[in-house]
Amino acid sequence: MSEVYPALELLNGAKHLRSLQPPAKLCVFGDPIAHSRSPQMQNAALKECGIDQQYVRVHATAEEFPKALRALPEAGFTGANVTIPHKISALNTVDRVDEHAQRIGTVNTVVVEGSKLTGYNTDGPGLSRAVKEEFSTDLCDLRVMLLGAGGGAGRAIAAQCAIENCERLILLNRTYEKAELLAQELASQSNKQILAIPWELSAIRNQLEQVDIVINATSQGMRDTDPALLPVDLLSSKLLVYDTVYSGGKSRLVQDAEACGARATNGLSMLLWQGALAFEIWFNRPAPVEVMRRALLTRD
Ligand code: NAP
Repeated sequence: MSEVYPALELLNGAKHLRSLQPPAKLCVFGDPIAHSRSPQMQNAALKECGIDQQYVRVHATAEEFPKALRALPEAGFTGANVTIPHKISALNTVDRVDEHAQRIGTVNTVVVEGSKLTGYNTDGPGLSRAVKEEFSTDLCDLRVMLLGAGGGAGRAIAAQCAIENCERLILLNRTYEKAELLAQELASQSNKQILAIPWELSAIRNQLEQVDIVINATSQGMRDTDPALLPVDLLSSKLLVYDTVYSGGKSRLVQDAEACGARATNGLSMLLWQGALAFEIWFNRPAPVEVMRRALLTRD
């Protein structure tokens, strides 16, 4: 189940995908996509629920993606997930966008209904469920510092915090202007304080005293050789740390936070919950979350 299919397969009628046993009716689009763990989690859920469908990886370039997405109805698909770098393109390609996804500004889940495509976003709600599960606290009760507010995941998480009216939201991004723009956009959606600050040690130190949780949504930390995102001496045992990075066990940030006595976790629970919520949207039934969790923890 670790194959990657080319977008061309969908564009050419999906003959091979239809002939698979069970037939492929769900997929995740991305570029790159070979690393995605979604098939192992979703296929375990489909099997558990007795649904005769298979979930596969599809590699699509930015140019191929809109056409490949539009080919899903003709290929007999139920829906799809969308990951880097197609989430904004998906929002612009579908026929209808669910209100929550519209507010978040990106689509990661697509449902096929007849010839129409509807876009949803489960990244933000997935993060919210993950924080609740990991730290037994509601996101809305937390003061949040978000690193990487300019990326797709960061945008979804920032919007989720605004929608849930988090007590305080501090946005940081390597390219400061993106965080500043997002803070302005989100200010109209929340009556709590939303502030963009530059990625400078004195500013971060100052704000860290007024937050409960640090969420990393940058792509830094995925490799062992990545430098520290925050100097260890800025971290403390009072903080919760949620790192959305999930490949390769504990990221540098999680290790540093734990060494300071903070409660810290990687992004596997967000991956699980965004997938479980997508399953519920496709099939209008509860997802077998524990089966999905076990499948995620097993290397395919
Ligand atoms: P993206 O759209 O490419 O955004 C990348 C973000 O990282 C941008 O904010 C970028 O800042 C920042 N960045 C990149 N290199 C950096 C560095 N050296 N120092 C500081 N900031 C840096 O990617 P994405 O889709 O948002 O994904 C970001 C992360 O979220 C990835 O690690 C991904 O695995 C994770 N994620 C996890 C889940 C989950 O379910 N757990 C779901 C989605 C994403 P600039 O704007 O300045 O370029």
